[in-house]
Amino acid sequence: MNELSSFLPQTNIAYFTMEVALRVEVHTYAGGLGVLAGDTVRSCADLELPVVFVSLISREGYFRQEIDAEGRQIEHPDPWDIARWAQPLPAMIGVQIESRDVWVRPWLYVHQSEAGYSVPVLLLDTDLEQNDPRDRPLTHRLYGGDEEYRFKQELLLGIGGVRILEALSFNIGTYHLNEGHAAFATIELLKRFPRRRRQNDKAEWSYDADRVRDLCVFTTHTPVEAGHDRFSYDLVTRAGTDLLPLEALKVFGGADKLNMTRVALNLSGFVNGVAQRHAITAREMFPGFDVRAVTNGVHVGTWAHPAFAALYRQHYPQWMHEPEVLVRADNLPDHDLWSAHEKAKRDLCDFVRQHTGVEMDPSVPLIGFARRMTGYKRPDLLFGDLKRLMAIAEKHPFQLVFSGKAHPADTAGKESLHQIHNAMRELQGRVPVAFLHNYDMSVAQVLVAGADVWLNNPLPPLEASGTSGMKAAVNGGLNLSMLDGWWVEGCIEGVTGWAIDNATDAGPLYDKLERVVLPMYYHDRSHWIWMMKQAISKIAGYFNSHRMMRRYAAEAYLR
Ligand SMILES: *Cc1c(COP(=O)(O)O)cnc(C)c1O
Repeated sequence: MNELSSFLPQTNIAYFTMEVALRVEVHTYAGGLGVLAGDTVRSCADLELPVVFVSLISREGYFRQEIDAEGRQIEHPDPWDIARWAQPLPAMIGVQIESRDVWVRPWLYVHQSEAGYSVPVLLLDTDLEQNDPRDRPLTHRLYGGDEEYRFKQELLLGIGGVRILEALSFNIGTYHLNEGHAAFATIELLKRFPRRRRQNDKAEWSYDADRVRDLCVFTTHTPVEAGHDRFSYDLVTRAGTDLLPLEALKVFGGADKLNMTRVALNLSGFVNGVAQRHAITAREMFPGFDVRAVTNGVHVGTWAHPAFAALYRQHYPQWMHEPEVLVRADNLPDHDLWSAHEKAKRDLCDFVRQHTGVEMDPSVPLIGFARRMTGYKRPDLLFGDLKRLMAIAEKHPFQLVFSGKAHPADTAGKESLHQIHNAMRELQGRVPVAFLHNYDMSVAQVLVAGADVWLNNPLPPLEASGTSGMKAAVNGGLNLSMLDGWWVEGCIEGVTGWAIDNATDAGPLYDKLERVVLPMYYHDRSHWIWMMKQAISKIAGYFNSHRMMRRYAAEAYLR
């Protein structure tokens, strides 16, 4: 308890998230949402913000990805060494699920900044002797199981999280809900503010919802209605025995199904999307709600390759604490910048050889593509016309590195993995292509740092923000991307990178590669290096998680 007690007096903000990427050995994350939460932890520590994080222990992780010879994804449990990284706290609370008490115990993980400021992360665990065998695995698999499993995990995160904070004597004045998964926290808080019920009162007026809105901040990440968690009221009444009476829940969560995004929207006093474009989409989706925009950012210290970190330290000693100084990157000497890039690229080529056996040539432009393998991100778009792709490579040779997991239930995403592998086979001998298994933070760090070009071709407006392109820019990588998510704000054509014209096929992508990107790499290296500096100054200097957290602090937390 000693370690925790040092956090108690000053901490007054709680950040709830289903996943959080604390470090590569701690498997409590699946992808972009978790990495964003992890970068949030790291920036809070650097900025000395008084935040405690609440998430699940995810004992078996998300999954470890294997790809068989046919290009089919095989999923393995991905346990981690909990006792090495966290300590159990002597506190326990119960959450009623299906009328049983499910006991929850927190583990404490402490993240420390380079300057020595620590931020606590509570990881909730139900794998306890006290629990019914049916309930012990509830915190095993991140995004695992079926709808019912997910629902129970969200009960534990939201209700359990609020109760654990109270049991540990935290005095919280702001609850930040990272995506709708955490929305049950608002319902649990409502119970703290009952009103005496008068006859004919509507359910909302049995609780002082405004008191909860004063406490809650909600960040939505999903620009499609179908992407939001919605639970049937059958399930809610059967398993959600610790929530509110049904008629009250329906007021906040919708009449037909319990929509977690609506719950959070209705009970949060500050709501934001994760890019300007996404906030516009969210306002159209949820008319009547004041959805602001706080565009995502990445933690520059985490995503800069050591060679770039050394270069920045030499020129801007305070760059880690104040990444805005990267705005001066125009001053970096061309030679030093290029040699940092060559180091990062060589590391990537070595990594690819070790893990796949594919030989990459450091003198040939390398295009990176890594993200969740799912329909709207169109991971196989580039392979739409292999003849054309090979013809381009004949004129201007290039090489490709891919990586990414498909959610176990995403059959279309898994099919595109298979398509990529088919394409790789056909391109053999013509275009070097490698696929790195098991995309995680460590793969991402090597890949975003070493690629010359970072490709992203989602179907607008379905990419809420995207962050991997920001990580590439921290290392001078040039984005080639559809104008969607953060890139609407980040792209200055021919300066910070390039936009791909919107189309259903790869035509405009091939055009840009063939006519602009690849010729510049081969024939105008000094302009290329100038663009790398523009990417660093205009993207890394702004799209970082320090700027993001300063905005949350000033606009959402200090409302
Ligand atoms: C940054 C990151 C993501 C998110 O990338 P997007 O561009 O937002 O899709 C996903 N997974 C890992 C491991 C990452 O590091």
